[in-house]
This record gives sequence, C-alpha cells and structure tokens, in this order.
Amino acid sequence: MPKQSPYPFGGINPPHHGSVAFVYKSVEDGRGAFSKYGSRYAYGRMGNPSVQPLEEWLAEFHGLPAGSVWATNTGMTALDLVIRGSTLKDVGWGKKIVASPYLYGGTFHLLELLDRNGYINLVWVENPFDLSSWEIALNGKTAAIAILETPANPTIDIFDIRAIATTVHTWGSRLVVDDTLAVGLQKPFELGADCCVYSVTKGLNRKSSHLGGAVVANPSFRSKVEAVFDDLFVHSGMIIDPGSAIAVYQNRATLVRDMELFSEHALIVALFLQKHKKIKKVNYPFLKNSKHYHLAHQQMTGGGGVLSFEMHSFDDAVKFVELQSEAYLGVHLGDGNNHLVTHPASTTHSKLSEEELNKLNITPGLIRLSVGLDEKKMSPLLANFKNVLDQL
Ligand code: PLP
Repeated sequence: MPKQSPYPFGGINPPHHGSVAFVYKSVEDGRGAFSKYGSRYAYGRMGNPSVQPLEEWLAEFHGLPAGSVWATNTGMTALDLVIRGSTLKDVGWGKKIVASPYLYGGTFHLLELLDRNGYINLVWVENPFDLSSWEIALNGKTAAIAILETPANPTIDIFDIRAIATTVHTWGSRLVVDDTLAVGLQKPFELGADCCVYSVTKGLNRKSSHLGGAVVANPSFRSKVEAVFDDLFVHSGMIIDPGSAIAVYQNRATLVRDMELFSEHALIVALFLQKHKKIKKVNYPFLKNSKHYHLAHQQMTGGGGVLSFEMHSFDDAVKFVELQSEAYLGVHLGDGNNHLVTHPASTTHSKLSEEELNKLNITPGLIRLSVGLDEKKMSPLLANFKNVLDQL
C-alpha cells in the first residue's frame, strides 16, 4: 500500500489549524481536557495540531521518542523555559546554574537578569576551555543545570561536549547545550548532553521568515522536568505559532545537506579572509590554524555557516560593514537566501560591559558573517570583500 496521509482530507502537509478555541462536547469533556495537559486540544496556548508534526520530527531527528520536544515561539523562550523551569522548586534541583559565558548576548543577559533579581544563582565558568574551571564552578551546591553554547556566537569558539558532559555529570548536574549554530552537524546527545536548545529562527528555518525555538530533552532529563516544563510552557504562553511550526517542518528534508553547504561556503570565505592583510584574525574551527581544528573534526561534520573576523580597529570594522555591498547588515544568521554581517559589540552583545566584551574577545573590530546557500552569490561576495578591504 502506498504511504498514507496522517492528516484529515489526505493532505501531504500538515493543515494550518488557525483555531485558538477547540470546542468541548460537554462540561465533563472540558474538565477532562484541563485535567491532563496534552490529552486533547483545548486552547491554542495549550497546544495546536499544527505544532505536533514539528515537535515529533525534531524528536525523531535527535533519535528521541515523541514527547521529548517543546516547540517555543522564539529561541529565547526555549532558553527561558529551561533556565526558569529547571530551577523551580517543584523540580527539586535548586537554583544554582553554572554557565559558560561564551553565549549569544540575549542568553548572557537573561541569565544575569534572572540572577540579579534572585530567580537563579548564577555561577559563570571562568575559563570554559579548561575542565578544572568547570569543576570550580560546579563545586559547592549541586547545580540544577550547566549551560554551554557550541559553537559560541559570535566568536565561533567550540567546546568539548563529551568532556564537559562527563565533568558536569560527575558533579551531579545536567548539561544543556545550545546547538543552534551547528544543528545537524554535531550530535550533542550522543556526546552526553541531557538537553539541547535551539533558536529555530536560525538554521532550522533558513529563510528569515519565522521565529521559533525548541527544547529537546533526553529521557532522564525529561522524566524529571516534564510536569513543570509543561506547566510553565502553557502558563507563560510559550508555544510556537502554528504557521511558523509548519514552515519549519516543511523545510526539514534538506536541513543536514544545507548545513553542510553553509559550512563549505563559510570555509571558503574564512580561507580568503585569513590571507588578507587587513584582517587581524579569522574565527572558524575548520581552518587548519584554528586552535579548535582537531576538536572540530572529532565533534562536528562541518563548522556551520557563521564565521567571525577581526579588523585592526573599530573604525575599520564600521567602514567594512558599511562599504561592502553583498551582505545585509543585520543581527541575524542562518539565512540560506542571504549573506548577513553584524557588528556584535554594538548590537547583539551591546549589553555586556567593556570588561566582559574584552574577556570574551568580542572586540570593537569583530565582525560576524553568516553566509548564504546560493552558490551564485559566493564569487560576488568574495570579489566585493576584496575590493573593500583593498581600499581600507
Ligand atoms: N541562541 C543562539 C545561539 C542565538 O544565536 C540566538 C539568536 O541569535 C538565540 C539563541 C535566540 O534566538 P531567537 O532570536 O530565536 O530568540
């Protein structure tokens, strides 16, 4: 028998359920819907049938059973769900969170905000490249979770997931990995992660068209947090928009291939930039002279579509991003149709102090580039970059 459609009316794609209300046959029916979250569709904030295919596919993509994913309305919501959810008293893990500071600026800021206001007890890992630094941070009170972003935005530093997971487990905690920049290019769960978070807005969407996020949990993490995460998800209104869920779900077949092509394009640009005398340093783990080269080959099948590079001064960086004409200037990444450049110190990471920026190597001359997938747009990008750099 040919493959059958799982959807009403035999559609090949999930239908867009543009319904916020789902009606009950009786008061008893309504009571049943409210007594167990997910038992049936009850109200748009509690679940929508158009979101389910994305959650089920993301679970399968990670080799996990259905029910292991919460698809959220943004990547930051996914982080909020994990950070606040894991530290709520009902979970019983306490309020301590250990985190690598090499993070997307929004995550860094959210952690500091929640810490400053007493929601969590945040302990930064002083030097997350060094396992003993993780041990120092993990020492004392057991941490609810440890947070790691690899590759890190915008320095494209990568971290040893296996070694860090082992250390985190030894100290009785659980590792959460923000896998946004390398989705499909590494397997955090196989390396020991307990939970992954994604900005679905980026590589999973690849079109700059929809916002979304996801929390993916392995069975043991899930069993401890599920009831609390469900509650927080529903009552804080974290669900992804049904249209966004469908758009991302329909883009699933080419995810890994696209991420590999992003990686090829990023490496081409990285190789070109590192030869130019106006460039002080290029950050891309698959460059032979990168300090991450060996780990990158062990842990990843490609470096992803985002690289960063340092100009000699802030003025040079401003001139470069404003004079080049092949990439849009905007704070986004992972768009297959377009190249994008960003100046992180003045945008995504502008809430960090000068001292924090210096420590994390987010210098005034640092530029982040997210390459596109269109092969025809690669030569013009290189030619234009060369032209502008030669003029500086
Ligand atoms: N995590 C990483 C690594 C990111 O780069 C971003 C955004 O750039 C986020 C999380 C937040 O995602 P969103 O913009 O979808 O909220």
